[in-house]
Amino acid sequence: MFEPTLAAARAALAAVNPAQYARTRNALGGAVTRLSPYITHSLLSIPDCLQTLSTKHTLSFDDKLVFEFAWREFFHHVWGHLGDKILQDIRPPVWPGTYADTLPTDIKQGATGVPVIDQTVRDLYATGYLHNHARMWLASYVVHLRKVHWRAGADWLYGHLLDGDLASNHLSWQWVAGTFSNKPYLFNAENVAKYAPAAYHSPGTVIDTDYETLDDIARRGGNVGREQGQHLSADAPELVASYPNNLWAGGRFDLKTLESIAAQATGRPIRLVHPWMLGEPPPGNALNIGLIHLPFHAHFPWSAARWAWVLARMQALCPVVFVGDGDDLVPILATASAVNSTATLNGHYSPLLKKLSTQLAPSPRLLPDQPRPCNSFSKFYDVARRSATSLDHLLADGSANAVPRRWHQSGLPGMDSPAI
Ligand SMILES: Cc1cc2nc3c(=O)[nH]c(=O)nc-3n(C[C@H](O)[C@H](O)[C@H](O)COP(=O)(O)OP(=O)(O)OC[C@H]3O[C@@H](n4cnc5c(N)ncnc54)[C@H](O)[C@@H]3O)c2cc1C
Repeated sequence: MFEPTLAAARAALAAVNPAQYARTRNALGGAVTRLSPYITHSLLSIPDCLQTLSTKHTLSFDDKLVFEFAWREFFHHVWGHLGDKILQDIRPPVWPGTYADTLPTDIKQGATGVPVIDQTVRDLYATGYLHNHARMWLASYVVHLRKVHWRAGADWLYGHLLDGDLASNHLSWQWVAGTFSNKPYLFNAENVAKYAPAAYHSPGTVIDTDYETLDDIARRGGNVGREQGQHLSADAPELVASYPNNLWAGGRFDLKTLESIAAQATGRPIRLVHPWMLGEPPPGNALNIGLIHLPFHAHFPWSAARWAWVLARMQALCPVVFVGDGDDLVPILATASAVNSTATLNGHYSPLLKKLSTQLAPSPRLLPDQPRPCNSFSKFYDVARRSATSLDHLLADGSANAVPRRWHQSGLPGMDSPAI
């Protein structure tokens, strides 16, 4: 479904219809774009997408699609200000009990007995993708009905998604949990029946109830457990901290090989290609070296499918891919004439790149980043709208994309206040 090529990314973009998207996006079968793996790995940027779409469609800040793109930029804005603090509760949880810190096996195996959850887990394993509504239902069930801490669910989902993005994923889980919003996100069987096909409908299960009851379970109840009876279980793919050997015919390059390749690059700049910059390389004669910095992946392991996707694209771009502790590259790259890369907010890759690269290009963005931390999406979007006269103006004005991302350690004022 998501070939890791520029041609596939462009074909997916060419198929987007913003008007149909706005009408149908809430339904699982709706005209959503499925661009997320390409955007996460920068085969497409949001400004690229809107530039291309605006040649065929009239778009403005009022378009639902522009609004949804902006959610991604908002989450990255928050990540830029909070750094790795997005991985912890931003506000206190809605339930006073202690959430479990691991995901129960029946959830991982899609054997809860709640069809919408079990079907969603199977979809995730089969495709590495979920519709936004399915992600919300899954997260809500995990946190509020099964009393699993959002972080355990978020790490697991992140590893299986081809579009896994720490900011969008972990902050969305916090939004569902109520630690980055002012109330828990809840859903019931009626809501599923409205937006999903019959195989997901879940009458007679724990979610077949009213919102008052669900709110009571979320704030005062206990773990509702799986549905009684026998339920078929799916094979849960493992999440692994490095690529599985049998995946990659190219094999792993040792430091000696890399050293000799780097030495041959005399006079050519080296471009370090990490997993979040897999788009078209800029013109020039740079030697592309793929970079997999394993200390990050030890904390956030990926499914074999995600490894295969990223490595296939990296291999298409780079004659050599380094897989290891990136600190080992420091002496090898010390003699390079120039080392370039693209900035990322990733808490492991970012400090490494600063150590290794002489020049970091900013990651493209649509909306000008705001120097003051903003704790709500509507305020963030409002400020962006007011600062640009129109979307066309913003797209024509490259300056928005040139604003480098900052890495602030300061918290977001008011973020932990219940007034959000
Ligand atoms: C629990 C949970 C986990 C999520 N994890 C991720 C993740 O790891 N990576 C990720 O990219 N998105 C994540 N999202 C956001 C959203 O669900 C996906 O971006 C979207 O479903 C991807 O499918 P699409 O490309 O067809 O989206 P479309 O609906 O077609 O939207 C177009 C693009 O807009 C952006 N977008 C749309 N909705 C959102 C949103 N709510 N938040 C942020 N960006 C959005 C994405 O870049 C998306 O590709 C998560 C949402 C939830 C509720």
